[in-house]
Amino acid sequence: MTLPTYKHKGKTVWVKINPKDDLLGVPPVFLTNPETYTPRVDPESGRIEEWGLVDPQQGDDPNDVPEMPYEYIRMFAKQTLYGFGGDKESPEVQWCKLRAALKEKKLKADPAAVKARQAQDYILKIRFEDLQDKKGDKFCWRVVKVSGGMKLSVFSDKVLLPAMGWCRNYHAYTFIDRSDGGLFGPKESNYIDLSHLHCHGQYFIDDDKYTLAHILVDEKSELGYNYDLGDFWRHNITVEKILPAEESNGKVELLSGSGACPPEDGSLPERWQKTYDKLMNSNLRGPEIQKKVKDALNYKDEPEVKSKSWRYDPHHFDLARAKTRLQEALASRASDKTGPKMFMMGGGMGGIGGFPGMGGLSANLANLNLGGSPFPVPSGSQATVQKEKGRSSRMVEHIRVGDEPKGICGSCGRPDDKLLRCGRCRAIWYCGRECQRSHWKAHKQVCVASGDDVD
Ligand SMILES: [Zn+2]
Ligand SMILES: [Zn+2]
Repeated sequence: MTLPTYKHKGKTVWVKINPKDDLLGVPPVFLTNPETYTPRVDPESGRIEEWGLVDPQQGDDPNDVPEMPYEYIRMFAKQTLYGFGGDKESPEVQWCKLRAALKEKKLKADPAAVKARQAQDYILKIRFEDLQDKKGDKFCWRVVKVSGGMKLSVFSDKVLLPAMGWCRNYHAYTFIDRSDGGLFGPKESNYIDLSHLHCHGQYFIDDDKYTLAHILVDEKSELGYNYDLGDFWRHNITVEKILPAEESNGKVELLSGSGACPPEDGSLPERWQKTYDKLMNSNLRGPEIQKKVKDALNYKDEPEVKSKSWRYDPHHFDLARAKTRLQEALASRASDKTGPKMFMMGGGMGGIGGFPGMGGLSANLANLNLGGSPFPVPSGSQATVQKEKGRSSRMVEHIRVGDEPKGICGSCGRPDDKLLRCGRCRAIWYCGRECQRSHWKAHKQVCVASGDDVD
């Protein structure tokens, strides 16, 4: 692939630069040829992070990409020179987009090998990187079995988040291919924390187009998963085993786990570590911390949390409960990322520290006062509004209501070309009669004939 080049102040560059852009503080890496760039290992994590770019506060190479305050200085420069809100065409984003195009070409180079791996089951360990006990053990992890044919987007929505204990459809996230820093995430979504993408890789590939088998090519492959681009909770996914196709059935299973998920919007990971230390040193006493977790969005509706004697124990892991949560997620409709969970206060937004200016939001600010969604609601979805108990805010989310697009088997989680839809509600797919029959007991509670839908 020969990339087009441009001239900037007499030099050859691979990105279009606004002549008024003084490129103050811009790392020279963005002016180099993306095709010959070698991704660098981040000295802090020891891994390849977003696009293999490195923050110079950690390294000493002039090509290092600083996070702050450079990113914020650049954000304002980019907004004036390359358009407010969608800084899509800044030199940095253009450069990452070129890396993305090269990456996609590589992913498509050997479809037969990808297809073979998609028929295999993977045993994956998802480890939460930002919390360790006194001995330095990163004790919060889950081991799941999942088909290599599962799309990254589905894996995030229906497996990783419920297995870990995070909320679904609340925050943005990115996957990182550890072999080269290739970044994947939710396209055409309205997560408010995407406004931090300029600090976390600038641009990502659509995670709905690629499966686990595209990235995890062997048992040494690793995948990063960063959850909530504001707080930035880092997870690392390693391959424990890739099963031969003959031993693979595509079924999703949560095999084991350890440690409790931190609360949503709890604090930054480094601060949460301190909170954890405090909690452990006080024998889990710490009424404010306990209350904070109890009120967190990923804890407040958990059945056991309602009991008076419940206490948050960071080392507690309830495998049975996590399995139920996973089963419910598999049977549910896919999250509608055009309308993630958002908290609205009066006429504005609150709770997740966003600011207007990203895709679709500013155009729909008028809707905020109408009590509905700030985003356009796609056909096949509806905006739901939930009053928050004892608070003035309300939670808005887009929920799918029409025919559910083909995804995975609602009972076993298998991705399959030959899935059959429940003819009555058209809201769930099955890999075969056997799964449909065994799931009927659970599904009949929610199966409503389509057309009878009342809003
Ligand atoms: Zn099935
Ligand atoms: Zn049904």
